[in-house]
Amino acid sequence: MSPPISDGMVVTINYVLRNRGGELLDSSDDGEPLAYLQGAGNIVPGLERELEGKQVGDKLHAVIAPTDAYGERSGPEPQPIPRERFPDDADIEEGMQIVARGPDGEEVPLWVVGIDDDSVTVDHNHPLAGETLYFDVEVMAVRAATAEEKAHGHPHGLNDEDHHHHH
Ligand code: ZN
Repeated sequence: MSPPISDGMVVTINYVLRNRGGELLDSSDDGEPLAYLQGAGNIVPGLERELEGKQVGDKLHAVIAPTDAYGERSGPEPQPIPRERFPDDADIEEGMQIVARGPDGEEVPLWVVGIDDDSVTVDHNHPLAGETLYFDVEVMAVRAATAEEKAHGHPHGLNDEDHHHHH
């Protein structure tokens, strides 16, 4: 028996994420299971809440409203930015997140939603904003986080030679 999931535990899950129409949005199938630190906001709040108290081997189906996931869509429509505003060697792809500077120098996260020869269209909503999320999750492992992991707010892999500290 593993301990139940609570804040400060590193949890490893396999998951499939679909939207309301049943379309596959994301899954852990094509890679490693996802490891996250419970209570640190690594995953959307609604899913973190659903996983609280679960144990290894538990499977759950969770329906998460936008307000407990990536929020409702809001604010201005997506807007095009001229290509020349980006560095020539910028490797821009649809779906990627970029950080712009606001008028007061503050960081503004934006997501690329379209690219053509002249412009890059960006949206300040997360791509999954406004979506109700349908998760199927299986809990694969649960362990206590190390002091270092708690300090960083994310898990470290067991043989994670590539762990870069981008904080
Ligand atoms: Zn770290």
